[in-house]
Amino acid sequence: RALGAGTAWLAHDAGDDEAIDRDLSLLGELDAAIPRGEIHVVYQPKLDLTKGRITSVEALVRWQHPTRGFLRPDLFIPLAERNDRISALTLHVLGQTIADLLGWHARGHLITGAVNISAKLLNSPDFIVALRTLVEASQIDPAWLTFEVTESAAMDDPQGAAEALRSFRAMGIAISMDDYGTGQSTLSYLKELPLNELKIDRSFVQFAHQNRGDGVLVRSTVNLAHELGLKVVAEGVEDAACLTFLKSIDCDMVQGYFVSRPVPADALEVLLSEYSIA
Ligand code: C2E
Ligand code: CA
Ligand code: CA
Ligand code: CA
Repeated sequence: RALGAGTAWLAHDAGDDEAIDRDLSLLGELDAAIPRGEIHVVYQPKLDLTKGRITSVEALVRWQHPTRGFLRPDLFIPLAERNDRISALTLHVLGQTIADLLGWHARGHLITGAVNISAKLLNSPDFIVALRTLVEASQIDPAWLTFEVTESAAMDDPQGAAEALRSFRAMGIAISMDDYGTGQSTLSYLKELPLNELKIDRSFVQFAHQNRGDGVLVRSTVNLAHELGLKVVAEGVEDAACLTFLKSIDCDMVQGYFVSRPVPADALEVLLSEYSIA
C-alpha cells in the first residue's frame, strides 16, 4: 500500500526534491496515523441567530503527529487527496462525527454535524458505497448530517457533482456549498445543484460591517440564497460588530472565532449547555 506513495512526485515540480521527500515520509506516516489513533476531530459551532442557539457543528480534522505536534488539515488533506487516502480519511472523520452525534443526541442536544467532502469524493462510487454501509451500520438518522462541498469542487465536473450530491440527498444528507464566493460558479449552478445551505466565505464576511463593497455582496448573497430557499451561514465571524451586522441583514447562522474556535467533543458539549445570546 505504501508503494502508492511513489506517484506523489507527479504532483510536484521536478526540482522540488525536498518537498517530495517530506511528502513521502508524511504520506507513510499518514497511513499509520489512523490505526495509531493520531487523527482527531474537533468541532466548531454554527450559531443560529434566530434561535440564539448552537444548532449545528462543523467537523474539522486534526492530526496529532508524534513528533511534529498538532498538524492543521492544509498540510495533509491535499496530500491525502493526491494519493488516494482521502476516502479513508473522510470515512474516519465521518465515523467519529457520527459517534459524537449519537452521544450528544442521547444527552438531549439535538444538533446536526457537517463534514467536509473533497471534490475527489464526488467522483467516487466506492466512497458512496462505503458511506451507505457506515450510515446504515451506525443507525444514525442521515438527516443529522450535512456535507460541505466547495464551489470549486462542484465546478470541476458540474454534472458528476450534481449526480453525487443527489445521491447524498436521496440518503437524507443535507448539502452545504462551502467557501461561497471564492469560486467561479454561475448562478445557474446554484439553481441546479441540490443545495440546502450556502456558506459565505470568510474573505467576504470578515469586513462586511466596515467595508461597503463587502457588505453589499454579503447582503445580496443572503437575499439571493433566501429567494432560492437556502439557509445562509457566514463563516469567519471574529467580532461582535460583524455578528450584529449579519443579524441586521437576516443571515441565518454564523460561525467563527467570536462564537468559538474549533474544540474537542467534550468542550463542545459544554458550549452546547451554556451557549445562548441575548
Ligand atoms: P473550511 O472548511 O473553510 O474550514 C474553516 C477553517 O477556518 C477552519 O480551519 C477553521 O478553524 C477556520 N476558522 C473558523 N473560524 C475562523 C475565524 O473566525 N477566523 C479565522 N481566521 N479562521 C477561522 P482548519 O480547521 O484549519 O481547516 C482548513 C480547511 O481544511 C477547511 O476549510 C477544509 O477545507 C479543510 N478540512 C478540514 N477538515 C477536513 C476534513 O475532514 N476533510 C476535508 N476534505 N477537508 C477538511
Ligand atoms: Ca467547511
Ligand atoms: Ca469554509
Ligand atoms: Ca473559507
